[in-house]
Amino acid sequence: MRTRFAPSPTGPLHLGHAWAALVAADHGDMVLRIEDIDQQRSRPEWETAIYDDLHWLGLTWPSPVLRQSDRADAYGAALDDLWARGLLYPCTCNRRDILAAAAAPQEGAPLLGPDGVVYPGTCRGAARAGPRPDVVALRLDAGAVDDLSWTDGGQTQSMDGAAFRQSIGDPVLARRDMGTSYHLAVVVDDAAQGIDLVTRGEDLAPATPIHVALQRLLALPTPLYLHHDLVRDGAGKRLAKRDDARSLASYRAAGWSADALVAHLRQSRVAPES
Ligand code: GLU
Ligand code: ZN
Repeated sequence: MRTRFAPSPTGPLHLGHAWAALVAADHGDMVLRIEDIDQQRSRPEWETAIYDDLHWLGLTWPSPVLRQSDRADAYGAALDDLWARGLLYPCTCNRRDILAAAAAPQEGAPLLGPDGVVYPGTCRGAARAGPRPDVVALRLDAGAVDDLSWTDGGQTQSMDGAAFRQSIGDPVLARRDMGTSYHLAVVVDDAAQGIDLVTRGEDLAPATPIHVALQRLLALPTPLYLHHDLVRDGAGKRLAKRDDARSLASYRAAGWSADALVAHLRQSRVAPES
């Protein structure tokens, strides 16, 4: 099995990342992907720190590492394909527009999907002809989504097209500022890296139907999925990206050995005091 660990270089790796990397390495040959499409927040020094922390944990991975900031052409090709088939439309709504439209009385209570409030479809009628617009967000018309099924943790999961449209809606596949979205990039890259088993935190499980839908539409294989539990603090709260006190670097500075930290994580997903 080929698995992957796919951190974003936007801050120090914390215990949650370490657990994700260990799960990936436990389940197959782990490859590494640097998810740096957010160029505002990504920093080369955080990428270097990722390599240092993973080496300290005793993990290895093949070269070259795939870096999403090098992959604009691959994401553009996938978007061109979907655009040419009339499956995308430009959306110019901001967050406030979406909230206001979703809160309109005829819509009922706004539904929350994997990306926040389910988009009420305001821009669905926008023109889909001509060259692909690249300065606005592009949404997938979920009308094109068929019945989906996939395997998560060995169990068959399914969602039909109607449920997708209701609970997820039309996901953003190209963000105005980034040229892609997480959903499109992760699907294109899991295929390019030949990933057989996607291991990742259970917080990402709700996004999986979007990824499976994109695999179908782009004729890419659907890998197996395994969503794992998250590392939490003593109060049961999941570690936040900015919880620097739980960074691997701070445990290291406090004298923890990698072996002790790994043994702790295998036993309990509660972060010890560093
Ligand atoms: N880059 C994501 C993160 O840091 C992981 C995405 C994935 O595993 O699909 O949480
Ligand atoms: Zn819109």
